[in-house]
Amino acid sequence: MNFITPLEKINAVTDINLYIKRDDLYPISGGGNKGRKLNYILKKCIDMKCNAVVTCGGIQSNHTRATAIRCRELGLKCTIIIHSKPVTRSTGNLKILELLGVKIVYCDLHDIAKVMDLEMACYRTQGYTPFYIWGGGHCYEGTLAYFDAVEELKKQSRVEFDAVFLASGTGATQAGLHCGFKHYYNNTAVHGISIARDKNRGTTEVKKSVEEFISLSNLDSHYISDIVFDDNYNCGGYEKTNHELFNVLNKTARKTGIILDPVYTGKAWMGMENIIKSKHYPKNTNILFWHTGGLLNLMA
Ligand SMILES: *Cc1c(COP(=O)(O)O)cnc(C)c1O
Repeated sequence: MNFITPLEKINAVTDINLYIKRDDLYPISGGGNKGRKLNYILKKCIDMKCNAVVTCGGIQSNHTRATAIRCRELGLKCTIIIHSKPVTRSTGNLKILELLGVKIVYCDLHDIAKVMDLEMACYRTQGYTPFYIWGGGHCYEGTLAYFDAVEELKKQSRVEFDAVFLASGTGATQAGLHCGFKHYYNNTAVHGISIARDKNRGTTEVKKSVEEFISLSNLDSHYISDIVFDDNYNCGGYEKTNHELFNVLNKTARKTGIILDPVYTGKAWMGMENIIKSKHYPKNTNILFWHTGGLLNLMA
């Protein structure tokens, strides 16, 4: 299952050339980067002849929603561990999990590893071969999906991009794009805009993913350089927002028709706009916004 998402030029922005890679339209209900990552992760699951999946996330996790959908498509058993308290009204991603009827287990954030192990053991005693996926789909296969996505982009367009902006969480998507742009392009700056983590932690995690990826893929060790993880637009943390962020969502929708969300892509767009302003890029600069999804977070 390999899908190509559209590459569009945003005509409403004229001071530079602004392109957008529409992974928000990645073909899975709700769209987004987790669909792309999951296709690679679950391929490994099938190759290993596993028939059940255990993973975890927050209550509005795009990763758990994408996992649950693909498991239903592929006929795999699925347990989702949610590290928060149950809510009385389910919306967004949680609503979809409930519709799909996968097993949902609520637990305390501190107990997550223990509960994941318990659910793995539970499948084994029932005679299944379970497959373990880290929260957010943070793993080699997730990074590979985004490395390959850059090859997809390269085949799609001859534009040489000067800079790329994306929302960065666990850092697997950024690590894949970082290595991909090093490999397939010359001098494209990849800006990860943090949606939660501070610069130190975030940079360390992206770097770890890049190191693992280049060693397992036998790529040039110089790819490790120039990791940019910017925490100036995280609004204070995961799911935290501010007035400026909502202005960005409103203005962008009205001006361009692009729908952003307050948890991920809104922060990335806000960062991109501020950086474009401060860098005074020349008029023919080619900027790419890699839209990673998030529509269901907006609707939650
Ligand atoms: C998970 C997610 C991200 C961040 O992806 P990572 O690989 O965890 O950094 C960005 N945007 C959206 C919409 C997401 O769901």
